[in-house]
Amino acid sequence: MNDESGRPPRPRPGLGSMAIGAEEESLVLDVLRRGDLFRYYGNDPDRPPAIAAKLEEELRAFHGLPFAHLVSSGTAALEASLAAVGIGPGNEVIVPAWSWISCFTAVVRCGAVPVLAEVDASLNLDPAELARLASPRTKAVLVVHYQGAAADMEAIVSAAHRRGWWVVEDCAESPGAGYKGRPVGTWGDVAILSFQHNKPVTAGEGGAVLTRDPRTYERVVRMSDLGQYRPYHHALTEPREPAFSGGQYRISELAAAVALAQWRKLPAIREHCRNLAARILPRLATLSGLELRPVADADGVFPFELYFYVRDEATAAEYRRRLDVRGVNCAQRTGTYPHYHRDYAQTGAAAHPAFAPSRGHASWPAPGFRPEDFPRTEDLTRRFVALPLGWKYTIADADHVAASVEAVHAELDQSRA
Ligand SMILES: *Cc1c(COP(=O)(O)O)cnc(C)c1O
Repeated sequence: MNDESGRPPRPRPGLGSMAIGAEEESLVLDVLRRGDLFRYYGNDPDRPPAIAAKLEEELRAFHGLPFAHLVSSGTAALEASLAAVGIGPGNEVIVPAWSWISCFTAVVRCGAVPVLAEVDASLNLDPAELARLASPRTKAVLVVHYQGAAADMEAIVSAAHRRGWWVVEDCAESPGAGYKGRPVGTWGDVAILSFQHNKPVTAGEGGAVLTRDPRTYERVVRMSDLGQYRPYHHALTEPREPAFSGGQYRISELAAAVALAQWRKLPAIREHCRNLAARILPRLATLSGLELRPVADADGVFPFELYFYVRDEATAAEYRRRLDVRGVNCAQRTGTYPHYHRDYAQTGAAAHPAFAPSRGHASWPAPGFRPEDFPRTEDLTRRFVALPLGWKYTIADADHVAASVEAVHAELDQSRA
């Protein structure tokens, strides 16, 4: 239905949260009616709760991996994964400067130091940064697949493994995205997912760890369940590791029920976004002076947010202003900022000073934690325009996005002439 201006009403962005329906309701009701809210046991000893277990089974099958473990959030999954592979005081972990808060804080909370890396125009970690940032203290690289597009995993994994580093894949923003014919989360040593509200599939809160390594799996389970390794897990792999003091990052059956219904919708959501993007990207590709986000593997992209670069920050702001007037959503929605612009990096503090990334530095922010150390990330992230798509977007909405970018492009071209 068009309003008086002749354009379709502004669609609401959002993926999984916009697709909540009867499937989520029925699984949640099932959990409530049985009264079994805790994943490891319920009211009837002969009938163990099955929802978290079912989702883990489907995550294993989807990724073709032997182990998946649900936890309370993506951040918890990151902390458990880093701890599981042995990241701790004295270690450095390479992290893209442009990534979510947890990618920095999870490293700090292990007692290690995050070493920030430039992103390239794909907005993912630039593989060339691994050689530049390598030190005798480097123990892992935390790769983020930013907003639906895989990082260049062949280059990153080979450079990291050659040096004996762990590769931790953060798939929170790209569940179901692929790279060279395999899903993200299967390329590194351990991977995480998030089911937070803004993510493509959501349970409000929730997360998961994926791995093919039994030792990493056992340590992730122990890290997320107070050091325990319950009989449920013995069936997947027998315990070989000593207990240790873990955290408590368990998921509830209720959250798992929502996440299970949502996970089953992922292929449909991804397909919908691919259909929408196919209406928009070819039209944007023809516009001079406008550069689309390059990706490592175009076939694997889960395109729920489209990015293009213009020549400078002021032009990007002008595109946003004019697109917004036309009813096109174009605010940057991920809440991502480079870490060096965030307060925790600027203070360099941790809850305890022994864990502070600023420790050992005479002045702070030290080199490597200042905007001037990241000219490329600064440049790129100031001059893109982000166009979110969504489950509620129609093909007409996609056509309106494309036509609006074309119109703004023509207007700005004219005002330059
Ligand atoms: C959202 C997100 C996380 C953290 O997930 P939570 O479930 O919110 O803790 C981690 N990494 C990236 C890249 C994210 O976008």
